[in-house]
Amino acid sequence: MPELPEVEALALDLRGRLKGRAIATVQLAQFSALKTFDPPLSALDGTVVDDVTRHGKFLDVEASGLHVLVHLARGGWVRWREELPALPPKPSPKSTLAARIVLAPEVADERQGLDLTEAGTKKSLAIHVVRDPREVERVASLGPEPLAPEFTQDVLASILRTEGRKQLKGVLRHQGTIAGIGNAYSDEILWAAKMSPYKPANSLDEAELTRLYTALRSTLTDAVTRSEGLAASELKGEKKSNLAVHGRAGQPCPACGDTVREVSFADSSLQYCPTCQTGGKPLADRRLSRLLK
Ligand SMILES: [Zn+2]
Repeated sequence: MPELPEVEALALDLRGRLKGRAIATVQLAQFSALKTFDPPLSALDGTVVDDVTRHGKFLDVEASGLHVLVHLARGGWVRWREELPALPPKPSPKSTLAARIVLAPEVADERQGLDLTEAGTKKSLAIHVVRDPREVERVASLGPEPLAPEFTQDVLASILRTEGRKQLKGVLRHQGTIAGIGNAYSDEILWAAKMSPYKPANSLDEAELTRLYTALRSTLTDAVTRSEGLAASELKGEKKSNLAVHGRAGQPCPACGDTVREVSFADSSLQYCPTCQTGGKPLADRRLSRLLK
């Protein structure tokens, strides 16, 4: 799933391509992807893109006072198309296309635009067309942006106090608590901070707090810096090749060489290094131990 650094880079890339361009029309291929009905999708026809920004993991294409907010979910992506087909897409459950933004041509016969795609059978890519981003509940309820200058170590300390005994992993990736961090970067941040994903939020001493804050800021800043200037098509590979533990179960930890372990849940999994993060002890994997009984 694209998280803060990838969505930030996507917004930057799309801003360069879309700003000042008129939208000819938006074609919906996956009807369930559109979550709003007023204003209708057709209200975007003829609007001009003013900006492309990000709120947490949401992309925001702002056009003539309207906002197209896109949550890419797990398998969603954006693909810039130099030459779109002349015919509108046929809705099909087999197609990965969710929606297509067709730009008005700047030269004759030009058909540039954007495809919003989603891989996998579980379709959860969400498109909202609104007049104000805060009309979308999941945007209105977002926690602070972790790379904003206001997000100081004191802000993190107060969040962790409020979250009490909740586990760090869950606190970091909860969008209403901190915006933009998901399953991958929460693994990476905890690895960089040398902390167990299960550590209770309010159990950090001052030195640990500093370590977590530094890990959070540097992990995200580094990922944003690496992603800047990359096109949408290059971002996924970039992310994957720079992760230390996330998605790397069974491989050696880049810091200590121990084997990266995994804990599986119903619909996700986390990865960590026992030597770096849990005093050498593997975390209990409840699903696995149940299977082994
Ligand atoms: Zn390690």
